[in-house]
Amino acid sequence: MVNTRPTETRTPTRREFLKTAGVAAVGAPLVFSPYVQRHAYSCIVIGAGLSGLAAAHVLKQARWDVTVLEARERIGGRVFSFGFKENPELICELGGEWVGDSHERMKALCHDFGITLKDHRFEASLMRDGVVKRPGQWDFSPQAKAAFEKFRKTYHTYGPRERLRLDQYDWWTWLEEIGFTEDDLLLRDLQDSTDFGETIRMVSAYAAAAEYFESSPANEMDYKMEGGNSRLVNALSGRIGNDSIHTGMPVANIKQRGGRITVTAGGRNFVADACICTVPARTLDKIKFDPPLPAAQSAAADKLQYARIIKNCVLFRERFWGAEDFSLVSDVTSHYYFHSTKTQPGKQGILCSYAIGEKADVLAAQNAQRRSEIITQDLLPLNEHAPKFALNIQSVAWQRDVYTQGAYAFYRPGQWFKLRPILQQPHGKVLFVGEHLADWQGFMEGAVVTGEAAAGALTGKSRARRAA
Ligand SMILES: Cc1cc2nc3c(=O)[nH]c(=O)nc-3n(C[C@H](O)[C@H](O)[C@H](O)COP(=O)(O)OP(=O)(O)OC[C@H]3O[C@@H](n4cnc5c(N)ncnc54)[C@H](O)[C@@H]3O)c2cc1C
Repeated sequence: MVNTRPTETRTPTRREFLKTAGVAAVGAPLVFSPYVQRHAYSCIVIGAGLSGLAAAHVLKQARWDVTVLEARERIGGRVFSFGFKENPELICELGGEWVGDSHERMKALCHDFGITLKDHRFEASLMRDGVVKRPGQWDFSPQAKAAFEKFRKTYHTYGPRERLRLDQYDWWTWLEEIGFTEDDLLLRDLQDSTDFGETIRMVSAYAAAAEYFESSPANEMDYKMEGGNSRLVNALSGRIGNDSIHTGMPVANIKQRGGRITVTAGGRNFVADACICTVPARTLDKIKFDPPLPAAQSAAADKLQYARIIKNCVLFRERFWGAEDFSLVSDVTSHYYFHSTKTQPGKQGILCSYAIGEKADVLAAQNAQRRSEIITQDLLPLNEHAPKFALNIQSVAWQRDVYTQGAYAFYRPGQWFKLRPILQQPHGKVLFVGEHLADWQGFMEGAVVTGEAAAGALTGKSRARRAA
């Protein structure tokens, strides 16, 4: 994130504001009973998504004994690159897609592991009522554009009180209030709901404004890893060591007694000095905590909702959409299409249909063939032969994923400043991390930053003790 305004006069950004509000997860005091004097410390990391792997990586570097317990049979969590058997060279993403230009830790890790970030920016066409308008042929009304620009300027002068007030609104109501017409609102909903995974009638206006005004010009939809985002997952696990990562191990119990933590998974007990839990809030109730989580923390986890998003990657024998940077916002069920295999050579290509909310539920309810028919027929106004070019489809409906129950968290009006600080609180020696708790909430960057920060807090402590 670049901010050119002088430090002493500018208003804190969302990330800075939350830190100064004293709610950053690892800033909260960790309650450790005295360690026995020894040289090796141990930690159990629950979940092998990016936050868990980033945490384990930092702990390993500090020579901690690390055990990663992952419920699924694969690592990566919500990062999941995929290649079709018909053309495995072409890689698409069924989970996290874009690395943002402001995502410093993601960029640094890719650099460290020699992973090239390729341009993954798109120009958006618009299809409404069966009419396709190419980039430059459609826009918001002058009234809405002027209102948005005025708000952008005002937002940057906001202090904590104004931000709290903004958080009471949903994004739709706020835009209406500042002067958006009905048609502009409908268009904005089609466009912005792909960012949040739900209609903008449900999303905090503060969370939305922060997302648009504190990020890169392309809204952090900048790059993708050459060869697929799972390369970073695999690179991290390689450094951690596969012996330390156990898949097919859903954690059922976390017990804390006498300064030690016992985690039960797959019928086995694992004992350690500390625990980092990356489990998404909605599925936290599958774990029995002993002593139990405070009631407020359990309630906050129940209240936090996750976006309904289905990603449908369709392999086509021809790139009939023309431009390599093709994307299309639409008012049909398939919702948003983009060219997943941009910059990947070949005649064949993959288009991803990214549908949210009820549209995601409708598509998730169909079998693969029917889903493919809907997605390709929705493209008929663009190309009358589109359905004939389709070779195969692969989908993930994240709202049906048992270990996430949604694509990423979204904070409803009034929740950002209330729920998140509660969810960030450590429970004894269990630290909570993950996308949902991050300042970069909803992003891979947020997952990595929270994981590394928690591990850093632990290793900082162990270093201090060794020095003492
Ligand atoms: C459709 C979609 C699109 C996205 N697009 C982008 C994007 O363009 N850019 C971007 O930066 N981010 C994007 N994201 C978000 C990004 O993928 C996530 O923020 C990030 O991967 C989350 O990492 P995490 O470690 O917090 O959670 P996860 O990856 O969910 O990791 C948590 C792990 O815990 C495991 N687990 C759960 N319960 C248990 C249990 N009881 N015991 C053991 N293990 C358990 C899970 O299986 C999982 O592997 C997208 C996500 C989705 C789903």
